[in-house]
Amino acid sequence: MGTVYAIANQKGGVGKTTTAVNVAACIAEAGYPTLLVDADPQANATVGLGIPRWQVPGLYEVLTDEVEAGDALAATPVEGLTALPAGPGLAGANVELPRIEGYEGRLRERLEPIRDRFRYILLDCPPSLGPLTVAALAAADKVIVPVQTEYFALEGLAGLLETLELVQRELNPQLTVAGMLLTMHDGRTRLGQDVEREVRAHFPDLVFDTVIPRNVRVGEAPSYGLPVTHHDPHSAGAEAYFELAKEVAARG
Ligand code: ADP
Ligand code: MG
Repeated sequence: MGTVYAIANQKGGVGKTTTAVNVAACIAEAGYPTLLVDADPQANATVGLGIPRWQVPGLYEVLTDEVEAGDALAATPVEGLTALPAGPGLAGANVELPRIEGYEGRLRERLEPIRDRFRYILLDCPPSLGPLTVAALAAADKVIVPVQTEYFALEGLAGLLETLELVQRELNPQLTVAGMLLTMHDGRTRLGQDVEREVRAHFPDLVFDTVIPRNVRVGEAPSYGLPVTHHDPHSAGAEAYFELAKEVAARG
């Protein structure tokens, strides 16, 4: 049965989607059948894998029981990597979902029939602690928290950790933090070094050894509809994501 990872942080622009797409691509390339579920109405993971943002059916149709998850899967340019696209309706899900009794468990339930087909399932979360993120955390075994290596990096993390504890207590006792990931790091600057030191000091044992550097190739890859590992496999960004995927797999 596939291990489910949610990639979550309520801050936008910290590297959630980039991490979801690239870790998924690396794991798939290593030979593990992998599913990337785009749970963000902005559909950046969908588009970043070359799938149109208006593609239906998507996650919205799955959550509203118009189709089964198995009928909403889309191929990607990466062998072994399948996507469940967001779909244009997902924007409404943040309003509609809370009206459904027990909506928190819905994503987990709807993914259940296809869990055996994948070794890893990654859930790209929206930049909020709203219903879609809660449903994703309730469906996950582990959470990866990307943290942008900048001055306000630690801000908001306390709120996220509180939400994680709440979900653990109320909905999903198995949920654990796989790790925090420093992204868009610039090791040449004093600020980059200071923030890395501060985050590691604050969360000993929780921060992945691998740090993702700020890298032009990483930023431009989505415009080609490709993970950076395919767009430019020898770039510093791609190499860092390969390292991270190994670390994620090694942590179990
Ligand atoms: P989130 O999903 O948390 O909102 P994204 O993954 O979409 O964040 O990243 C925000 C922006 O930063 C995107 O334009 C993305 O391409 C860019 N980006 C992410 N990681 C890197 C990186 N390591 N180097 C350069 N640009 C990056
Ligand atoms: Mg995103």
